[in-house]
Amino acid sequence: MTILILGAGQLARMMSLAGAPLNLNVVAYDVGSQQIVHPLTNQVYATTLEQAIDDADAITAEFEHIPDDVLTLCCNSNKFYPGKQAIKTGGDRSLEKALLDKTEVACAPYQLITEKAHLEQAVKTLGKPLVIKTCQAGYDGKGQWRLKSDDEINTIWAEMADFIASGTEQAPHTIIAEKMIPFDREVSIIGARDKEGNVAIYPLTENQHTNGVLTLSLAGKDNSLVESQATSAFTRIANELNYVGVLAIEFFDVQGTLLVNEIAPRVHNSGHWTQQGAHCSQFENHMRAVAGLPLGNTQIKQPTAMINVLGQEKIPNEVLKTADVTSHWYGKGVKPGRKMGHINVSGESLQQLGNRLAELTSCLPEQDYPGVLATSKSLL
Ligand code: ATP
Ligand code: MG
Ligand code: MG
Repeated sequence: MTILILGAGQLARMMSLAGAPLNLNVVAYDVGSQQIVHPLTNQVYATTLEQAIDDADAITAEFEHIPDDVLTLCCNSNKFYPGKQAIKTGGDRSLEKALLDKTEVACAPYQLITEKAHLEQAVKTLGKPLVIKTCQAGYDGKGQWRLKSDDEINTIWAEMADFIASGTEQAPHTIIAEKMIPFDREVSIIGARDKEGNVAIYPLTENQHTNGVLTLSLAGKDNSLVESQATSAFTRIANELNYVGVLAIEFFDVQGTLLVNEIAPRVHNSGHWTQQGAHCSQFENHMRAVAGLPLGNTQIKQPTAMINVLGQEKIPNEVLKTADVTSHWYGKGVKPGRKMGHINVSGESLQQLGNRLAELTSCLPEQDYPGVLATSKSLL
């Protein structure tokens, strides 16, 4: 079978690696260059998108910011999963909030903003500080503002107005203001839903962000007090979208109550630990679901942490000497802060994982790999 993936980044690469043992051949559509490429080598194929759609047995996506005409072409083929509605919803925070309201899943209180008066209103009703986000753009915390005092309304509004003005009638740009949630921690749930509606969900993951970017994820702690809230949100949202594939939901944990931050209709950075930590990885499960194969086992094998490698040229050799460390490299050009790869590290127990993280702190400097030391201490 051939699977076409919209997007040719690291997620397509890892889906391709997971698909190979299932005899799934993966090709990727690079939305930027509008070329069909090999997801590992980036070799360009002499194929048009229309031809690739015809040739594919199933089509999926690695990200949600995909031009509408491309989505429509894929959708018309009747082999696109998780489908246009799910991708559109994940790529527009106003649609995402409407879905959460419809499925009665709690999220951060919000107000949509298209004019300055809405921003002033949001300051009054939601209170300060506010987190303000572009609805249709942004990832890794980009396209966001933090409003802490009334003095900032004018300057932030000026920047917001530029973004709104850059939208078109077909693709309007809007803004959302959210109450800044004083969370205790951030967690996410990743799961898969197949074409028959069967659902398989991974254990909850605890996530640390630094300047809006995920830096470390941890799976294997006892999260039994909040896990059912996360799985119930997952099932409601996945069923409502008649979802097929892997879906990720990010939450704020506020004293044991989970509020959704956002939804990603795809494999997700906070699920990378499943490559070594779970019986069947999120990448394999996404490939299985879209290919119409049975879902794999989402149970955890051993406590596992995932550390993102941001803006570094390589993973230090010392890291690879640590027991139960695996390297996942994306083969991209280096840029400051760019996600270049990740490391998964496992242990037979949380304590052993804590010890291994402690060992890693000698070769992973805190300024480049924040959270490793603190996580190790919390496990020992
Ligand atoms: P991603 O790469 O995860 O898609 P993104 O650009 O879509 O990132 P968000 O997940 O919305 O951004 O926000 C990034 C981070 O900013 C969150 O993980 C959280 O740490 C913080 N944040 C976002 N919204 C809020 C909020 N309402 N209250 C408190 N913190 C927030
Ligand atoms: Mg996002
Ligand atoms: Mg996020």
